[in-house]
Formats: sequence, C-alpha cells, structure tokens
Amino acid sequence: MDYIHDALVGLSKSSPAQSEFYQAAEEVLECLRPLLESVPRYHEHSIIERIVEPERQIMFRVTWVDDAGKVQVNKGYRIQFNSALGPYKGGLRFHPSVNASIIKFLGFEQIFKNALTGLPIGGGKGGSNFDPKGKSDGEIMRFCQSFMNELYRHIGPTTDVPAGDIGVGAREIGYMYGQYKRLTGRYEGVFTGKGLEWGGSLGRKEATGYGAVYFAQNLLEARKDNIEGKTCLVSGAGNVAIYTIEKLYQLGARPITCSDSCGTIHHPAGISLDTLKLLKEVKRASLREYVEHHSDAHYIDAKDYPGDGHAVWRIKADAAFPCATQNEVTEADATALLANGVHCISEGSNMASTAAAVDRFIEAEIAYGPGKAANAGGVATSQLEMAQNSSMQQWSLKKVDCKLQAIMADIHHQCATTAKEFDQPTNLVLGANIAGFRRVADAMIEQGVV
Ligand code: NDP
Repeated sequence: MDYIHDALVGLSKSSPAQSEFYQAAEEVLECLRPLLESVPRYHEHSIIERIVEPERQIMFRVTWVDDAGKVQVNKGYRIQFNSALGPYKGGLRFHPSVNASIIKFLGFEQIFKNALTGLPIGGGKGGSNFDPKGKSDGEIMRFCQSFMNELYRHIGPTTDVPAGDIGVGAREIGYMYGQYKRLTGRYEGVFTGKGLEWGGSLGRKEATGYGAVYFAQNLLEARKDNIEGKTCLVSGAGNVAIYTIEKLYQLGARPITCSDSCGTIHHPAGISLDTLKLLKEVKRASLREYVEHHSDAHYIDAKDYPGDGHAVWRIKADAAFPCATQNEVTEADATALLANGVHCISEGSNMASTAAAVDRFIEAEIAYGPGKAANAGGVATSQLEMAQNSSMQQWSLKKVDCKLQAIMADIHHQCATTAKEFDQPTNLVLGANIAGFRRVADAMIEQGVV
C-alpha cells in the first residue's frame, strides 16, 4: 500500500481546490519516503494523516469603513497547524491573492521550518485578502483593528504568536498590537516584529534576509567556496529582499537586481540600498522610480517578462535569492539560471520555486537552500524576541546576530547531515524535510493521540 499517495489523494478530496497546499504537502511527503520505509512507528501512529490536518482553522469576516465612508468586507484567516513543539508561530499576510490554500501551505511549511530552528515553536499562519496598497494610514489602522477584534481571542504569548509577512510590517503590527492591548488590557509578547520601544528585538527586521545570506554562506563554505565577490540576483523589494541585499554588500557580494509586482530593476553596478530603502520603506513607491535616481540602471516592466517566467532570473550571475513570493521561479527560469552560471540559490520567500524548478536544481546538484531552511532566520529571531519579552530583557544587536548566525549554521548542518544519512548528500530539500519532520513527529508520538 502506498500511504503517501493515499494521503495526497485523501487531501484533494477532503480539502478541495487547494493547489498550493497540495504542492507543499507533496514535496514534504515524497521526501519522507525513505524515512517512512525504515521507521515503522510513524505509520503505526498515523503521523502522516495527522500532520497534514491543521489542529484548528479560523476563518472570519473583517468589516471596516474606507475613507469615502463605504463599508468594505474582507476575509480573515488563522491556521493553527501544529503545536507539538510549542505555541503556534507564523506570520500574517495581507495581499489580495490570499485564500485558504495559500494560508494552509504557508502554515504547513512553517511546521517544519520552525522545527529546524531547534526552538520551542509550533507552526501557524494567517492573513487576509486585504490589499494595503494605495490605502491611507487611517484605512490600514481601521482594517487592522477590525481584524484584531476577532483574532485577539485566539492568540496569546503561550498559545499563538503572529508576526509579519507580505503586506504586514512594523506599521500593521503596531496597529494590531495596540488593538490587542485595548481589548485584553494586557501588555505582553503576543506579536513579534514589534517596535523597538515597545517590546521588539534588535535584529528582527533584518533577520530573514540576513539569515538567507548566512545560509548561502554555509552552502558555499561546504563546497569550499565563499559569497564574497559573487554577483547576485535578488527578487522582491520588501523586507526580506532589502535585508538580503544589505547583508550581501556587508559580505562583499554584488546584488544587481530587485523587483516588485510592477517590474524588475537591473543595475549592473549594484543595487543602491539607499534608493531602495527610500522608495520602499519611506515613500512606499513603485520601483519604476528607481531609474530616475540611477541612469545606468534598467527597468523591465512586468508586461515585458518572458511568457514562461520572470525577467530577474534571465540575467547572468553566480547566486540567486528569490525574496518575493511563492512559485516565483518556474522551470524555464530554473533552466535559464543554470545556463547562466548560477550555482547557489538561497530562498528568502516561501516555496519560491515550482516543483519542476526544484527538480532541476536537485538534478544539477547545485548549492540549493529551500525556503523552509534558508528563510528560517526570521522566525528564529522572532522566538528570540519572545524569549526577551518573557524575561523582560532587551539583548544587544551583537548577541541577537551571533545567535542568528549559529542557528543558520545549525540548520544547514542538520539539512546536510540528514541528506547524507539518506545517501543524497546534495539534496537539502530532502534533508530539511526529514530533519524537520522527525522532530515534530517524535514529539507528536510522545504526546499521545491529541
Ligand atoms: P513584503 O511585503 O515586505 O515584500 C514583498 C515583496 O514581494 C514586494 O516587493 C512585493 O511587491 C513583491 N511581491 C509580493 N507578491 C508578489 C507577487 N504576487 N508578484 C510579484 N511581486 C510580488 O514581504 P516580505 O519581504 O516580508 O516577504 C517576502 C517573502 O518572504 C514571502 O514569501 C514571505 O512569506 C517570505 N518570508 C518573510 C519573512 C519575514 O520575516 N518577513 C519570514 C520568512 C519568509 P510590491 O512592493 O509591488 O507589493
């Protein structure tokens, strides 16, 4: 009996029309085959059937009034996927593309990512199909407050601790935290990514991007190579992309691209971090404006992208850092990346590559770090923020960054040694999935049928 196949078929029946979730589940379960064949207890305890089913899914209506006085209605989601290792932990995404499948795939990935950090955190995720783009501060605040009016009853510092993701940064977390405090009367570490003056951790904002670069450094060092001097492709222009670019410069590499939903910037001399931060962190403007500041940079409009992928992956380079969104690297992009000499990929975004693209990277045996390992620095530092909150301390940036570097090195070590144990030493997708799964599954068995 092929119970992995049966589990995947079962999912498509019990949770119809959730393609992103099936993609994430299939990747993990297929990687588990050699483990499940050699360790019968996971099957005996029905771990596969249990791990693909969220412990709790909350869906709710979010109503708010826009600046014109019109009532708007959005959907809100929180998936509390697995609490075997600790309180649910995972970000909130505000983007018009958000639906139950996207939140579910993100929550599922989060279980294994959080397990890889070695820290006591379970997996969860949430968000809304609300589009923050073009909204006034007042509209953002009213939406966040309404979202919190329902979510507050499901979260808490030892039950579920949300953070940011696409469309949710310091401003949104501030508004949601304020409303939580107003509703509960409690000043406690219920969110991570908070402002530095009210419970945030130094280094959290930078952690996902910095961590993705540290992971690439580990990948390269394992091959007696180094990130220094490498020409790098980065996609995205948000939190993860900006701090990936910043760390690449600090380590002597040259990031030459970034992108947003409108288009891609190719700046052969190196992306200007100051201009990027000005446009995205201060003005919240389109990347189109970048070329007004740099006449030697090129802008490629999204409508001119190749039909089978993304312009950013068609440029010659040594390393690539997808930092925008899921499935942003197609099979054709993967072919182009390999043909153009890219031999190291560290994913800042979640499920950045399609299944076919991942297959190409594994076949080519390049240094490939899947998102659930490479971008785990964000959630790991969130857990450091929780530790600081519960002990009422604030650590120095140096202390947080040292811990982040050690965690990323440890995640790489776990992925690499597990891949080796299963005779596929260059397949860190398999290494990440098995290493993460074992920790969660063993905890589930020890905690009984719950
Ligand atoms: P931001 O909202 O700060 O930035 C997202 C960037 O990606 C923006 O430049 C946005 O363009 C672009 N983008 C988003 N969706 C699309 C799309 N459908 N097509 C093209 N471009 C798109 O989000 P983050 O930087 O926080 O998140 C980026 C990725 O990293 C996500 O996959 C997220 O899940 C992952 N991640 C984030 C973590 C964190 O700590 N923030 C932790 C771990 C993973 P535009 O500016 O036009 O909207």
